[in-house]
Amino acid sequence: MARLEADPERERRAADRACGTCSHCCTVLRVDELGKAAGRDCVHQRGERGCGIHATRPTICRAYRCLWLQGGLEEDERPDRTGGVVDLETTGVGLRLAIREVRPGAFDASPALQAIAARYRTQMPVRITDTVDVDDPDRPFRVLLADDVEQRVAGDRIEIFREGVLIERKRLPWADRLARRVSIAWRSHRLRRLAKGRAQD
Ligand code: SF4
Ligand code: SF4
Repeated sequence: MARLEADPERERRAADRACGTCSHCCTVLRVDELGKAAGRDCVHQRGERGCGIHATRPTICRAYRCLWLQGGLEEDERPDRTGGVVDLETTGVGLRLAIREVRPGAFDASPALQAIAARYRTQMPVRITDTVDVDDPDRPFRVLLADDVEQRVAGDRIEIFREGVLIERKRLPWADRLARRVSIAWRSHRLRRLAKGRAQD
């Protein structure tokens, strides 16, 4: 989650917002303290009644605020209405908009998510991922850029489309793939250590 710049209008909108019946981040987020992988429903989700361990929920659950809750999206763009959880993320070269589909295919089925992506792609890359097979470093994702350019990445292959027409195929730089593999391996290692610690408690 990137820190948003001060904006009185956004902050006014955020003050009026509440998660209500939405609990999509409880599916999308990884919660190491619970051994919960990204993309899997949390065992403590209680539907419209919210979190079953609200008073003692882990720190990440307390701190997390999606872009809608921070007032950065329109009122009717709450994740349970669009099918995707949206965040601003900091990368090595700036910001990107991250759209995480709660279910595969949500982006293509959601005019609201497409409208959000259209608003942002002229300012920053918009990355669309689903939350299936998050431990697979080769799983596919899409990046929407300005000028109607889209990158579709799968494994080490990138296909580049302009206005829906394939214009180039190339390989992902090896350093990018290595970075993804190292990050996933480190996360798995950390989850195993936490699980071991819980088993010894
Ligand atoms: S995805 Fe956003 S609106 Fe939905 S429960 Fe999480 S923080 Fe609240
Ligand atoms: S512990 Fe509660 S707030 Fe955290 S992911 Fe599970 S249901 Fe959501």
